[in-house]
Amino acid sequence: MTTETTLAGPAFVELGLAEPILRAIADAGYTTPTPIQAQAIPQVLQGGDLLAAAQTGTGKTAGFTLPILHHLTTRAAQAQKPGRPRCLILVPTRELAAQVEESVKTYGKYLSLTSMVMFGGVNINPQFKALKSRVDILVATPGRLLDHMGQKTVDLSGIEILVLDEADRMLDMGFIRDIKKVLAVVPKQRQTLLFSATFSDEIRTLANGLLNNPKSVEVARRNTTVEVIEQSMHRVPQAHKRDLLAHLIKHHDWQQVLVFTRTKHGANKLAEKLTKDGITAAAIHGNKSQSARTKALASFKDGGVRVLVATDIAARGIDIDQLPQVVNFELPNVPEDYVHRIGRTGRAGTTGSALSLVDDEELSYLRDIEKLIKRAIVRVEIEPGFVAPAKADLMSDERPPRPPQGRGGPRQGQGAGNRNASGRAPQGRSAAGGGGKPAANRAAAPGTAQPRKPRPPAALFAGKPGSRGH
Ligand code: AMP
Repeated sequence: MTTETTLAGPAFVELGLAEPILRAIADAGYTTPTPIQAQAIPQVLQGGDLLAAAQTGTGKTAGFTLPILHHLTTRAAQAQKPGRPRCLILVPTRELAAQVEESVKTYGKYLSLTSMVMFGGVNINPQFKALKSRVDILVATPGRLLDHMGQKTVDLSGIEILVLDEADRMLDMGFIRDIKKVLAVVPKQRQTLLFSATFSDEIRTLANGLLNNPKSVEVARRNTTVEVIEQSMHRVPQAHKRDLLAHLIKHHDWQQVLVFTRTKHGANKLAEKLTKDGITAAAIHGNKSQSARTKALASFKDGGVRVLVATDIAARGIDIDQLPQVVNFELPNVPEDYVHRIGRTGRAGTTGSALSLVDDEELSYLRDIEKLIKRAIVRVEIEPGFVAPAKADLMSDERPPRPPQGRGGPRQGQGAGNRNASGRAPQGRSAAGGGGKPAANRAAAPGTAQPRKPRPPAALFAGKPGSRGH
């Protein structure tokens, strides 16, 4: 796996897991908990609800499976009946279901707990049969689980622990109603764990309704060592962004750029504009079919299109080795999304560059992001040669997201504007990390910023069905 392990973190034995589980971990060859495991396992062992931000590849599966196995094996079971599981793990896809149940078996091999995987697209009869015996841990996709609920072949009244794994993907796939139906029948008194790669507003809403006073843990996306990514930004009015981006792509001769927009409409508009300017571009977002997305991604990977414009959700799962350039056409309003976005570059030890185009109205998002990443993003003057579009050419339909009221507005001269002539923040710690000069800095020339009208702060706020036993 590619996740860095915490060198100074606790050893597995210090986490308080039962001995047979530790033995299975040793058999798997793990020596040190990954960061998500080091954070999540103690929290889950304490018994409370958990909201965890972690992606595949971080070791998240063991992060919830190990303490669940511990609870189930150390706590006395209530009335145990066939087809009445004690733990339900909901996952979006059959592949993940199979994988998670495999982990349950691997880590639980010295325990006398039983598990079952349940997903659609396969004959349901073996699942009926499996549910006639004891099942402690059920790993299921929502659709097939509902089938079983409808046929009363599964009884969820004994659920002690409920896990939603890859909850964001489940929402993307339209499982929200199915999830609600499951929630309606599981006991209110339970432990609930929610894992998600990103925290959209939708996920937060789901988490609020689902979790009781949760602890939250978070690990950066694999290889998202913000250190190796050169991060810079241009202050630019929203209405000038499309022209500026086209200019930058040509000026720097960027050949492969992943651009994030906040809206699907914005993604389309931007791809159209770039294409019109002679820059090959494609947009991917939730309104495009899976095959259109796959096609766009394939052309982006093989160099057929230079620019891929994506919304956060559509960009999920995009894994491109050595992607050199990411552009935030708009800043995300969830700061963690910034980390996930820029984590697409600078993978596997290569340096990458992330440039954000920031309108005045996005300054409060910028502050939240800088707080999260604990560093200032380098403000860079816009290169000479960029001619801001004439008023008549501006497209008025694109406004940046409005920060919610009461977040506190950017004050003049605070966390905004160019910090010094070189565009480098005064903290002494360069966002370029490792001594490299930010790409945008190299091209920066002092004194070429667009004139900005100071605005009063107020104006800124408007397979294996039914495998069993170990
Ligand atoms: P996951 O993010 O749960 O899909 O896990 C990614 C991979 O990391 C899996 O192949 C696990 O077997 C492996 N893994 C999980 N925990 C550890 C650990 N503590 N040390 C080494 N590898 C691990």
